Amino acid sequence: MLLGDERAAVCDYARRMTADGLVVGTSGNVSMRVEDLVAVTPTGVAYESLAPEDIPVVDLYGATVDGSLRPTSELPMHLNVYREAVDPDGSAINAVVHTHSVHATAVSTVTDEVPPVHYILATIGPSVRVAAYATYGSTELAESMLAALDGRRGCLLANHGTVTYGADLSAAYHRARQLEWACQVWLLARSAGNPRLLPPAEIEHVVEKLRGYGQR
Ligand code: 13P
Ligand code: ZN
Repeated sequence: MLLGDERAAVCDYARRMTADGLVVGTSGNVSMRVEDLVAVTPTGVAYESLAPEDIPVVDLYGATVDGSLRPTSELPMHLNVYREAVDPDGSAINAVVHTHSVHATAVSTVTDEVPPVHYILATIGPSVRVAAYATYGSTELAESMLAALDGRRGCLLANHGTVTYGADLSAAYHRARQLEWACQVWLLARSAGNPRLLPPAEIEHVVEKLRGYGQR
């Protein structure tokens, strides 16, 4: 099967999104790119029942190359990331995750930038923007997402959810979870008081420091 491993990974991560509470029902979508082909979740299909052969494979302009199901309605967002986004460190971009995770979506309704409440947000960039609202599945949404992603590895979509990308699905998915976690922290802190925020210079400092994070 064309891109058999990648289509299996897309199924696994789509199910993980549900298990981890990042989406409800058929919300959200996941894709993986190999050169100029993209394996992406089909639109409106429950993730529990997904098998690798159900995962459409499209080219970078959306033409179907393999599979009989229609790709996600958010294909314009996924393809815009692969065609146009630039990772701030120049890393490859081979996976995109779109969620409706509840705390991030709540934050997307009240601000234009995720308040810098925790240094973990620096894994996405020096700030995390909220893309201007546009209807789901529209090219306008794909454009406003791209503007919000400029120099960042993820963003919120106003009154909608999150988008993150990475060199592989594990990285893109991990960022979606960290973003959700930080938004939950902010909402909790807000309910308890007036959260102290980190100054932009500290976030910039952490962006640098994270380049050396982990086992080298
Ligand atoms: P799809 O089922 O078309 O992937 O739509 C889910 C979604 O989150 C749209 O924004
Ligand atoms: Zn959505």
